[in-house]
Amino acid sequence: MKFSGLILSALFFIVACGPRELDPDPASDCSNCESWNQPQDPFRIYGNTWYVGTAGLSSLLIEGAEGLILIDGGLTQSAALIDSNIRAAGFDPLNIKAILVSHPHFDHAGGVAALQRLTRATVYTSVEGAKVLSTGELQSDDPQFLSGPEHTGFPAIRNVVAIGDREVVSIGGVDVTAVYTPGHTPGSTSWTWESCALDTCYDVVYADSLTAVSAEGYRFVDGPAADQLIESAGTIADLDCDILLSPHPFFFGMQDKLEIRGEGNPFVNNVACMIYAETSLDWLQQRLQAEGR
Ligand SMILES: [Zn+2]
Repeated sequence: MKFSGLILSALFFIVACGPRELDPDPASDCSNCESWNQPQDPFRIYGNTWYVGTAGLSSLLIEGAEGLILIDGGLTQSAALIDSNIRAAGFDPLNIKAILVSHPHFDHAGGVAALQRLTRATVYTSVEGAKVLSTGELQSDDPQFLSGPEHTGFPAIRNVVAIGDREVVSIGGVDVTAVYTPGHTPGSTSWTWESCALDTCYDVVYADSLTAVSAEGYRFVDGPAADQLIESAGTIADLDCDILLSPHPFFFGMQDKLEIRGEGNPFVNNVACMIYAETSLDWLQQRLQAEGR
């Protein structure tokens, strides 16, 4: 009896103290979910900055001397791919100290709750974004609110810290600055940091989505979102920017750039933020014309 009791407590000890593993939330269902969630091999973009997302949804890892920063978590079903990409790139997800979020939509924040439980990292986003992340439900001023919680909801996230415009998150020797860029959502946040290799340092900008997309029935003409998008495009265009990244890899031409990677580093392009801003304004103009302005 005594012996089997010992074995049982030894087993309990092994289970309780074994490595933490990802405990994913139920998969989201949407028309683009399957194509967005196709696997993508992780790769180093430049210096301390790695791509660890899926083929259609960005997730970035920034390597500091004493800890890692993750940006965005894709869909709920992306969390497992991100976890394995981080490991495949040679990092331990348990060293992630902070998870930064661009905007609180289910395709960028859906996987964050599970990744937060795994890593026990603090989650940072804007004041407006934090309200949505903490509940998993959009507020009524979000252009996608009218689609309803069954389409727009995602797992609520614990341990969210709201950060102000131009405030800095410093983790493990890396400083990442939050830049408010509202419009696509009221809480949209871009993030910028420096990435160095050998003697050359570049300013990296993770520019949040500036697309004027919404639920049916919403009009950009009627609310503040159109003016916010115009101002945010100006903000992005004015940033020091050598490398542009964004929540959908399509917006920074990731696949095309990977194909020509042998010839230098195609991710380095100091006019990319300007072009991103101009393209967004063109899309907004089309949307406003369609709405009859
Ligand atoms: Zn979105």
